[in-house]
Amino acid sequence: MEVLRVVSYGGGVQSTALLALAAQRQIIFPTFLFANVGDDSEHPATLAYVREVAMPYARQHGIEIHEIQRRRRDGSIETLWERLHQARLRSIPIPVRMANGAPGRRSCTSDFKIKVVARWLRERGATAQHPAVLGIGISLDEIHRANKRRSGPYEQIEYPLLDLGLRRSDCVQIISAAGLPVPAKSACFFCPLKTVDAWREQRSYEPELFAKSVELEAVLNEKRAMLGRDAAYLTRYGIPLSEAIQTVAPPSVEILDPGCDSGWCMT
Ligand code: SF4
Repeated sequence: MEVLRVVSYGGGVQSTALLALAAQRQIIFPTFLFANVGDDSEHPATLAYVREVAMPYARQHGIEIHEIQRRRRDGSIETLWERLHQARLRSIPIPVRMANGAPGRRSCTSDFKIKVVARWLRERGATAQHPAVLGIGISLDEIHRANKRRSGPYEQIEYPLLDLGLRRSDCVQIISAAGLPVPAKSACFFCPLKTVDAWREQRSYEPELFAKSVELEAVLNEKRAMLGRDAAYLTRYGIPLSEAIQTVAPPSVEILDPGCDSGWCMT
């Protein structure tokens, strides 16, 4: 039985470098899986990059990219944004910041990415006896993010960028040399792991997304108040987003804290 060799494709710099390397057959991964947490949740630039740049490039080079999403029992798609607005939501799935500024526990990466990919692999025959090889795009400068997640019995995790000794700057060069535009870091537009500069950029240059982030924070706190819980915030300042983020920032490259350590978001 042929071993499934699949990359978890996030639509960011590192996993797009893996796509270019796979297209050049420098690594052998014929299939890429983009676990879309929701068209209403992913940053629109990531969705546009995956669909308008990465997918046509992959097709030209004989690589498959499958876009997959979380499904409810009845088969309908569930997005992270929908989950966050659920009337009966009891615990917040994204890593909102507690009063001390630390991110809370999250289930979003597991529910909307890891389990979605796992299901796809198992449906195609991956088992403990015949595990799939799952490539994750973590570069040398983010090595601390590797090996933090225990792999499932149906998968064997590989880190091709670490094996090749490549840093993020190498990934940028690989993408450019392949004739592709360099993507932004991929993440939900409301991800609380965003840096303060990234929030300022959102407020300045993407005001409609910022307004939605402000609304989301308010909705989550209404639910927490009804459950008798303290407020939680999308930034570490312990005050509402619209008060915490005021000023315009110069464009920055690093838009997220390195705290998303699963190897599934922001790759
Ligand atoms: S980007 Fe942030 S909010 Fe979105 S799934 Fe990953 S950790 Fe959760």
